[in-house]
Parts: sequence; structure tokens; C-alpha cells
Amino acid sequence: MAAEEDIILSFQELNLNDNLLRAIEASGYTNPTDIQRQAIPVAVSGRDIMASAQTGTGKTAAFVLPALEKLQQPSQVQGRGPRVLILTPTRELATQIQDSIKRYARFTKLRSGSIVGGAPYPVQERLLRSPLDLLVATPGRLIDHMERGRVDFSRLEMLVLDEADRMLDMGFIEPVEQISAATPDSRQTLLFSATFEGNVEKLARRLLKDPMRIQVAGAKEKHTQIEQRVHQADDYDHKHRLLSHVLNSEELSQAIIFTATKRGADDLAEELTEQGYACAALHGDMKQGARNRTVQRMRRGDVKVLVATDVAARGLDITGITHVINFDLPMVAEDYVHRIGRTGRGGAFGVAVSLIGPQDWGKLSQIERFTGHRLERSVVVGLEPTRSEPRGGGGDKHRGRPNFSRKGNAPRPRSQSASPRGNYRGQDDAFGQSPYSQQPRQPRGREQQGNSYGNARFSDNGAPRHSKPSGERPKISYARPQRKTGQRGDYR
Ligand code: AMP
Repeated sequence: MAAEEDIILSFQELNLNDNLLRAIEASGYTNPTDIQRQAIPVAVSGRDIMASAQTGTGKTAAFVLPALEKLQQPSQVQGRGPRVLILTPTRELATQIQDSIKRYARFTKLRSGSIVGGAPYPVQERLLRSPLDLLVATPGRLIDHMERGRVDFSRLEMLVLDEADRMLDMGFIEPVEQISAATPDSRQTLLFSATFEGNVEKLARRLLKDPMRIQVAGAKEKHTQIEQRVHQADDYDHKHRLLSHVLNSEELSQAIIFTATKRGADDLAEELTEQGYACAALHGDMKQGARNRTVQRMRRGDVKVLVATDVAARGLDITGITHVINFDLPMVAEDYVHRIGRTGRGGAFGVAVSLIGPQDWGKLSQIERFTGHRLERSVVVGLEPTRSEPRGGGGDKHRGRPNFSRKGNAPRPRSQSASPRGNYRGQDDAFGQSPYSQQPRQPRGREQQGNSYGNARFSDNGAPRHSKPSGERPKISYARPQRKTGQRGDYR
């Protein structure tokens, strides 16, 4: 199959209604991620799902979009209770899911709310009395309300268990089973979990009916034939200078540079062409014929540098590509893996360089959590950054199970470029103790600190305890980084 044909994938194929497609477009997404492509059609068909997908794969949309699609049809049952219930382990996750619901449901009249530990009861009681289509909840607090007779599940059609493994790790097995038992038998159940190991499989057997198993492949691929490194850039100009340095390296034969937006790709391709590079852009605004011709020119070697959006992250199979350069990091961590897979093909050795601006640390740590390994920090002599790497990944709000220890990555070599121009060196030592030598910060909500469930409260490890929970709410920033290139809705 022609590789360039693989890169046309769109949300239209998933048969979602126009309101959702508009919201998806407004979110800047063009192509569904793997988990979305696999899960959405099955969920929309009404079948139960058991999906293994980590954070960073776009899994939230994989259950929120089919839920919203289902809610387009009026309920068959009179009442005010939620028609979709999403259970998730922590307050932070609940907030993020609720944000996603708001984003994807913005062109609908659907009502949603969340019930989490640590928030005042009266507000939640009012929410549960009002008509509700979707409810996002952490198990402990929801059980509290159920025990007080405040939750009406008579209309419930869909139950989603998000991060099921983590809910079980936190000791929520009983609440989850109790909540499921209180919902109608006729419901559809979608279970998402990073792993199916341990009790997740058993829980699934009890709660799901003939589920379709979905597994997103390749997340942990090591790409040992690809040298991966990051360069920290102080600002946009610094990024450009680092880019020129990489493009001028002697071992570079052909490169793909990924940008976040279509406009960014056009602008950068134009600049590089002016600087004398045999360069072309590739993105989703180009007609298919033009895209194919560009790929052919790249294949023939007429184009040395391709500046592309994530439309080129998959499927493109050109053995001459020695370098992948992430001028902007991808929105979805999973796309990082697809992007770098454009080099090091057919047994060749490849180089993947990511340029990290001040706003990119959160995305970088999401990528590192997703792939399970830390990327080598390198500096170019003469182009050193003036700032230090922020501790803990730059106010990273991303969740997932941090899994870094020095053991897995050590000994970290002082990277020396093979190129005489290169002259990289490992940067960590320059900053004293690396933030990765410690356990990365885990935001703790009250739900994690101790949920009210009967008389017992759950401690972090899930074991019931009886101490009073602290009323302190952790300060977590949900601010989105600003984009440098292009506009929102201008992706791919
Ligand atoms: P999740 O794995 O659900 O936490 O999603 C990770 C990130 O990917 C979030 O910032 C989403 O907004 C983003 N995202 C989800 N679906 C897509 C998509 N199809 N294209 C681009 N970004 C996406």
C-alpha cells in the first residue's frame, strides 16, 4: 500500500454527529488517535469495551465522544438522574474529564457535573437534584451520596470506569462494585485501564458483558535504533538557531520537522527555503494530489527537509530520513512515538531531536511517562540555554503513573556528538540534582488522602483508615501552554 495513503484518517469515518465533529474541529484535532479509532465505533455500536490505554493516548475522548453520541437520542426513562456515569480515581482526573466533556459537548445542550472528594456537599446535593446527562465522580464521595439516598440511577445507560487499575490500587474495588450494582443491568460498560493485570481482569469479568478487548500497541516500543535527545530552547529564536545547528549536521541526509500547526509548517518551510534548503511543507490543508507529489519528491531525494504536521506522523516510510526534529512537541504523547518512527527505518540508524521551549516541559513529561523512558538532555556548545529545567517537569499537570528511576536510565552518558560540529554534552549535571532522581510529584486530592466511605476512609494505598482528612486542596495549575506558531484550530 502506498504509504501516503495511510496518512488520510479522519473523524468523519467514525460517524459522529455534526455537533461533535464541530467541537472536535474546534479542539484542533483532525485525526483520531489509535484508541479513538478503535474504541469509538465499538462503543457507539453499544458493545461493552475493555481497553488498555495509557494517559496521553487520547483515551478520554475515546469514551466521552461515544457517550455524547449516545446522549443525542432522548432517554426512554422519565427522571433527572445521570444517563452516563464516569468513575475515575482522583479529583484531578475528574476535573480533566469534566473539562473534556465541556469541550466536546459545547455545541450540544447536554448537562454534566462532577462529584469529588474535598468539595462542599451542599453544591453537590444541588447538582444531584438537578437534571443531569453526564456525571463524573470519584467512587468514595459518590458512595457517600448514594448512602444518603441522593443518587438516582434509574436512567443510567452507560458506565465508564476510567483508570480502573488505579482505582483498584487505591482500594476502590468495593465502592466500584457497589456503584455498578446500583445501576441498571441493561447499561453499557466501558472499562479503560493502563493494564489488565491483577484484579482488573476479575473486575471486568464481573461487570462487563462480552466486551471487545482493545489494546493500543507500540507505546512502550524502545526504538533502540533511534538516538533520542532534547535541546532546551529559551525562546523561539533560540529554537531556530538550534534547528539550524541540527540541519547543518554532517550526518543529516533527509529530515522531517514536525510543527504543531499547518500555518507553522508553511511558515517554517518558507523560511528554510529562503535559507537555501530543499524544503517542502506537508499538512492536511493540501489537496491529496499535492501531498502525494511532495512525498514522491521526498522519496526521490529532491526534497531534503520536509516540514509537516502530525498528518505525516504515521505511515510515511522513507528510508532516507536520518533525522526527525520536533520543532513543536505533539499534542498527544502517543504521536511522539509515531513521529520518531519516521526515522531509523529498514535497519538504518536515526536521530530524533526535540526542541523544548519554556512552555513544553509538561508535554515532555507526558511523553516520558507515556514511553516509560527519560529523554537525554543535550546542549550544543555555543547555544546553551540560559534557564534551568524546572523541577518536577515545569508544573506538570499530567497524570499517569510516573515510572522513572535512575536505575532504568543510568548510567546516563555524557552525550558527545559524532559530528565535528555537534559537540553535545549531557546537561543534567549542570543543574545539580536532577528532578528525576526523586519520585516525581503526585498531586494529592482529598479523595486520595481519605475518602469518606461508610465510617472508613481510604488512605493513599487504598487501605481504609480512620484519621480525619485534611481539608487542604492542592494547588494545581490547569493553565494550557500558549502556542508559538499558528492559531487554534490550525492543526495538522
Ligand atoms: P488523554 O490521553 O485523554 O489524556 O489525552 C491526551 C491529550 O491529547 C489531551 O490534551 C487531549 O486534548 C489530546 N487529544 C485527544 N484526542 C486528540 C486527537 N485526536 N488529536 C490531537 N490531540 C488529541
